[in-house]
Amino acid sequence: MDKKAIFMQVSSLEERIGDLHDELRGLKEQLAYLIEENHYLHIENENLRKRLEPEKESAELPEQERKKMVGEGHENLARLYQEGFHICNTHYGSIRPEGDDCLFCLSFLHQK
Ligand SMILES: [Zn+2]
Repeated sequence: MDKKAIFMQVSSLEERIGDLHDELRGLKEQLAYLIEENHYLHIENENLRKRLEPEKESAELPEQERKKMVGEGHENLARLYQEGFHICNTHYGSIRPEGDDCLFCLSFLHQK
């Protein structure tokens, strides 16, 4: 294999890595969008449930925690995360073990 052929191969590899990188970024954006959508659907679902079954309002979390969870926008999500809750699709609303960062939560927070 001569030098030119090797150079061509490296260039082509570089191009393919660039394409993969673009694809990965696109998927990350879609993931962030889905997590955010899930967040709003979760809240909407909760509100609808409250309206349908007011007697069952207590549910899993104390009222104070519940209030913390209802809110809008990135800042609220960041605060939720700081307060020790998952904001990611996989574990949304559940408590993170102390000092335990979640990659899904972090990748969502660092989007924007
Ligand atoms: Zn998480």
